Amino acid sequence: MKYECDVIEDLLPLYKDGACSPASAKAVEEHLTECPRCSEMLARMNDITIDEMMISEKENVIGSQTRYFKRRSTLVGSVFAGIFALPILVCLIVNLATGHGLSWFFIVLAAMLIPASLTVVPMLARENRFFLSITSFAVSLLTLLGVVCLYTGGKWFFVAASACLFGLTVLFGPMLAAKSPLRERLGRSKGLTVMAASTVTFFVMMLCIGLFAKAAGYYRLAFGISVPVVAMVWVLFLLIRYLPVGKTAKTGLVIAAVFGAVRLCNELIVFVMEKTLAKGEVMLYTQTPDLYLYIGIGVGAVIALLGLLGKKRR
Ligand SMILES: [Zn+2]
Repeated sequence: MKYECDVIEDLLPLYKDGACSPASAKAVEEHLTECPRCSEMLARMNDITIDEMMISEKENVIGSQTRYFKRRSTLVGSVFAGIFALPILVCLIVNLATGHGLSWFFIVLAAMLIPASLTVVPMLARENRFFLSITSFAVSLLTLLGVVCLYTGGKWFFVAASACLFGLTVLFGPMLAAKSPLRERLGRSKGLTVMAASTVTFFVMMLCIGLFAKAAGYYRLAFGISVPVVAMVWVLFLLIRYLPVGKTAKTGLVIAAVFGAVRLCNELIVFVMEKTLAKGEVMLYTQTPDLYLYIGIGVGAVIALLGLLGKKRR
């Protein structure tokens, strides 16, 4: 062989791209006819190039498809927005023509915001679709409640709004935390954030109901029972989320804790109710037989023990 393989190897990339001088190319070709090792290397280089081409081609196709779908969803979103705008316009005209000023027009307008938030927003949003849809849904729901309440002259807005907010937080909180623009910053405390948000909205709701109802003894009954019950829910959450034991032991502990919590709640409800209501009425709230609860606590404790022992043996 005229040249060492090392020299040819250095030249191969240039040769493959057709960038070396005719003399070098000739030397490479001569070497390749004699050397299977360098021939194979050239073949592999060509394969890699083909792979790269396939990948970039695939990315091109995906990119153009994505752009196509984005354009289409913008179009469909705009059409939907138009569809929702039509009845709003008709109502505006009818409302004005019948001489009602703009009274119930605002109800129709607010009502239309709800379906729009669930269709137009996700279709038009570029990113954070879920987050934007749910937030705009919540805002439009509260707007509708507010408008209807104003129109009917009711005083129940804060009760309805706070109850809606609490329900939405419990229902969508976990998904919102996972998909919100803040998810990076929340990191591993997403669960904690959702629990905190649910607790706050719950107590705001209880407060709003109290302010609306103005019933005697409301706060004593409502908070006397709900504060300890919420505390128990927190204990369960912290057990499940942070206790560093195995799955079996944790399952057992949670079962025992749930039955224990029900037992404690029964005691608590009776205690709070006795001070407020007549004895006969209290019985209504304490129907769960204690025996079942103790069996539940026992079963949970046994499972937890088995889980802890099993882990030690391994
Ligand atoms: Zn060679």
